[in-house]
Amino acid sequence: MKLRSLCLAGLALGAGALAPASADEPAVVASIKPIHSLVAGVMEGIGEPVLLVKGAGSEHSYSLRPSEARALERADVVFWVGETMETFLIRPLQTLSGQAKVVELSEVPGLTLLAARVGGMWEAHGQEDEHAGEHEEHGDEGGHADADHAAGEDHAHGETDMHVWLDPTNAKVLVAAIATVLGDADPGNAADYQSNAARLHQQIDALDRALADRLKGVGNRPYVVFHDGYQYFERRYGTNAVGAITINPTQRPGARRLEEIQARLEQLDAACVFAEPQFEPALVDTLIEGTNARKGVLDPLGSAFEAGPGQYFQLMNDLADSLVACLGSTAPE
Ligand SMILES: [Zn+2]
Repeated sequence: MKLRSLCLAGLALGAGALAPASADEPAVVASIKPIHSLVAGVMEGIGEPVLLVKGAGSEHSYSLRPSEARALERADVVFWVGETMETFLIRPLQTLSGQAKVVELSEVPGLTLLAARVGGMWEAHGQEDEHAGEHEEHGDEGGHADADHAAGEDHAHGETDMHVWLDPTNAKVLVAAIATVLGDADPGNAADYQSNAARLHQQIDALDRALADRLKGVGNRPYVVFHDGYQYFERRYGTNAVGAITINPTQRPGARRLEEIQARLEQLDAACVFAEPQFEPALVDTLIEGTNARKGVLDPLGSAFEAGPGQYFQLMNDLADSLVACLGSTAPE
């Protein structure tokens, strides 16, 4: 499966670390940590997928290192969320010379897909049912590449929110799809992929119940997030995010926008404003100045946790921890 990269493998620094354990199982690449974690869970005991976005890299803007580009070239299977999420992968995936099977996970049938919200401050549950539960088909392939985070403007109406992994019911759908794809690519291990998927389903169910239980205490307290990346989690557990500081997490919001958010923080008596480790935390300090809001941190990727099968569970628990720590400790109204 890796014969074509014989020369490259010899030259590549650190290629050993990226190469799978044996030549028999497929070479698998996953774009971001939570997706990598689910893939790693399905592959447990068989092989290890390569992760692209590491460290504090954002899911929306990343530059592939040469070693990562080579891992893509060698891949038999590539898992990513889709073109309005990992925009940095659009070109590399288009120009792949190998025969990798590229799986756009946001297209997996059976996912609950939510429409991206429009504007930075969301009217409480105003437009939320417009596209709820709808499986939106991406008929306009490639046309949305820059319409979302990359262009710096509001989400186009009807655009799908791509942070699908933050709903555990979606994670289960992804796990089933990943097991099927890997079983097709590697029939000899198909039964093991399926049994790993079945085990993961049980673990995700348990996670979901535990999170629901813990987040009951957070109730309806309003809070503001850094970028609109948590809608699936909010919906699943009924938390009350009322807005995002930035639509485009790679650009600093303007002064007018910051004033608007500050006004809403006071008006809603928001309990918390959440920064993200990938972006400038000083902004949040500026925003909460003179309001009753506290500062917290949320990370939709769980970038602090070591990549692997447990990472998804740590990420989800960490979101709950942060919400409970900031919202739950505020005096009730
Ligand atoms: Zn995001």
